[in-house]
Amino acid sequence: MEKNHIEHNKVVNYSLDSFPCGALVTNSSRVITYINSYFTKQLLWQPNDLIGKSVDVLFTQSSKIFFQSYLIPTLLHEKVCEEMQLIIFHADGRRIPITVNASLSADGGIYWSLFNASKRDKLYEELIKTRETLEIQAEKLKLLASTDELTELLNRREMKYRSSLMLEQAARSHYSVSLLMLDVDHFKKINDTMGHLEGDRVLKKLGQLLQGFGRKTDLISRFGGEEFLIMLPDTNKSDTLLLCRRLHKLIAEIKVGDSSLTVSIGVSICDEQISFIDLFTQADNAVYKAKSRGRNRTEVHLNNS
Ligand code: GH3
Ligand code: MG
Ligand code: MG
Repeated sequence: MEKNHIEHNKVVNYSLDSFPCGALVTNSSRVITYINSYFTKQLLWQPNDLIGKSVDVLFTQSSKIFFQSYLIPTLLHEKVCEEMQLIIFHADGRRIPITVNASLSADGGIYWSLFNASKRDKLYEELIKTRETLEIQAEKLKLLASTDELTELLNRREMKYRSSLMLEQAARSHYSVSLLMLDVDHFKKINDTMGHLEGDRVLKKLGQLLQGFGRKTDLISRFGGEEFLIMLPDTNKSDTLLLCRRLHKLIAEIKVGDSSLTVSIGVSICDEQISFIDLFTQADNAVYKAKSRGRNRTEVHLNNS
């Protein structure tokens, strides 16, 4: 396996042992007939462990399967194959990922060159890790962009978007949708008498209450300052009013100083196709009615009013 080359009238010996990769030859029975010193120096095999043995001794189970089912058929068909990814054993049992090029000779022997690919695999792992981190960050950013910071409920923009989708779905499937608009009563007074921080605490508490209250399919949002919007799919008027009564009761358990928190609720229910903005305006008008009729109560928008 050594080549003599004449350079400036001087004979130079080039050896396959000097190459920084594994060189291996198998005969037509896949028995190893030659290894360069990469196998003994880098992979610490004894020549006797390999020479005269089936090339299988080098391969892991999965590589053996790949070798038989893909590499050999490719070689028989194409005569060469390039950049095959296999795993071989180091003499100490470690698994070494390698990139293999192989060519088939006329007598059925195979010439192999093997390149250690551990570093490439590590780089690949790092790339995968980086991609996972980026995906998690993108998920977090998406959440930040769609939720309200204080209450962690859906924010105004996301609510508008998801409500419109829900209304389209309801129109297609012919079920009714209820929209509840909750407006905290005299919230300005809470801020003025107890401070803005206490106001924030109350909003947060109310947000948690609403989140725990709803069904999974309900849309619950902080639509602005002290206004919350809830969209209930497939809910009729009597169920909606029952739910509002329970809400008033639960919200009264939030204490602000010596008083109970109260909200005014405006409800609009749609049975036929309607835009989000029209449904919202109806609920808003109903809140206005609840305020003018004494607060801490629910009013329903009537379609003929
Ligand atoms: P009404 O019963 O008529 O609804 O009276 P109100 O005082 O609740 O209504 P108004 O619209 O006069 O006041 C709402 C207040 O909510 C004013 C605003 O400063 C306060 N607010 C809006 N966003 C926040 C917030 O994020 N934190 C706090 N602490 N206050 C807020
Ligand atoms: Mg308001
Ligand atoms: Mg208010």
